[in-house]
Amino acid sequence: MSNRPVNHARAAEKFLEDAPHLQFHDERLWDMRQKRDDQMHMLPEWQELRTEASRIKEHTLARLPEYLEQFEENAKKNGIHVHWARDGAEHNRIVGEILQAHNARSLIKSKSMVTEECDMRPYLEKRGVTVTETDLGERIQQLDDQLPSHIVVPAVHKLTSDVARIFAKDYKTDPDIRDPHLLAEAQRQAARPVILHADAGMTGGNFVVAETGTFVVCTNEGNADLSATVPNLHIATIGIERLVPRMADLGVFIRLLSRSALGSPITQYTTHFRGPQKGGEMHVVFVDNGRSARLGMEDFWTSLKCIRCGACMNTCPVYRRSGGLSYGAVYSGPIGAIIDPTFNERKYSTLPYASTLNGSCTNVCPVKINIHEQLYKWRRVLVQHHEMPFVKREIMHMAGKLMGQPKLYRAAISATETALGTLPRFALYNWLNPWGKHRENPHPVKQTFHAWYKANRTDKASKTEDSR
Ligand code: SF4
Repeated sequence: MSNRPVNHARAAEKFLEDAPHLQFHDERLWDMRQKRDDQMHMLPEWQELRTEASRIKEHTLARLPEYLEQFEENAKKNGIHVHWARDGAEHNRIVGEILQAHNARSLIKSKSMVTEECDMRPYLEKRGVTVTETDLGERIQQLDDQLPSHIVVPAVHKLTSDVARIFAKDYKTDPDIRDPHLLAEAQRQAARPVILHADAGMTGGNFVVAETGTFVVCTNEGNADLSATVPNLHIATIGIERLVPRMADLGVFIRLLSRSALGSPITQYTTHFRGPQKGGEMHVVFVDNGRSARLGMEDFWTSLKCIRCGACMNTCPVYRRSGGLSYGAVYSGPIGAIIDPTFNERKYSTLPYASTLNGSCTNVCPVKINIHEQLYKWRRVLVQHHEMPFVKREIMHMAGKLMGQPKLYRAAISATETALGTLPRFALYNWLNPWGKHRENPHPVKQTFHAWYKANRTDKASKTEDSR
């Protein structure tokens, strides 16, 4: 895997050049944000729910080993096999071994960001296992060989025409179909036989309940239920942070999740998995993959409260106008920008800068993660760890010096004002001035505030000013 920093700005620029996709993406996500607001206004206790959700998550994370052990004990009593994976490689090996032990050659799976994190699909495919995504958006992304661009709606950046083109190639359907229902039906027809004959099924897990040793999967397509129940073998891959202590805690999250994600009161399917079906086997693979280390990061541990609703992405002006793929990572948008650097600080060093720090992400987050503050904190860490591009670092260094010396600063302002009024356009708008790429420089003012102040200053102010 390349360690080169992701060039988010360049990828975003490419996304911006494509007007139809840009407009659709922006409007679609803003629509979800507005629907979320409508749902929020219907619940007078919304802020109390957020506070409670945050409290439960912080409490659980503070006692994570205890609750994980409680889950394991209860899950085993329910007949569930529990496995522990330190990282992606270990996860993939465990899943591969379970499949091999059952001589399983085909796996159907519902959406799971953790398996994307572990890069599981190529690992299994290299070992002769056919992996088929059953979530519509995820399947579209699989056929197009792309990562999901959103954690809830993986193909949200695609137009109907894009999907028709992809299905025409793989399912031999009419490339001119523009009716989303027909496209969904094409996927249904293609997926059903695969599901019916699969050797094993895989799901993620939205919430894991320690006191009962059970877990819950929320979907809108019912594909997780098919993946888990049609084959006899069910494997669930779950991040270790997904725990809640009691069944009674679940209601808080179920009320927040779909309202925050899509602006709907609840997901179409909220399934409790309590144990293997008759004659079947159920395995839960808990994945750490850097989560324990993140739990020890004083400024960033609360990112583990995330319930993957995507609300922070829908509201973010940078995400809406740059698309999820521009982040070059499994997780995109504001949540991606604060957790991706915990996976690889150098590679994702540019992502915390993909934000205006407007705080909207923090305001919509159902579990009250201080996302914009963490973005700011990451910038400080990255500078301390020398993960800032050379040119940017030097410019900041020079700006710091300039602003620390009032006389020099005023001289520079005056020279800039003159330059803006006299220099030819090509001297002002070139690669040295990224600001000018999409914006016009401001018109030079006739009088700066400082000059005005000097001209109108009081005697007292004058003395203070003259003494500097
Ligand atoms: S950080 Fe908050 S808003 Fe963003 S996906 Fe996670 S829970 Fe949702």
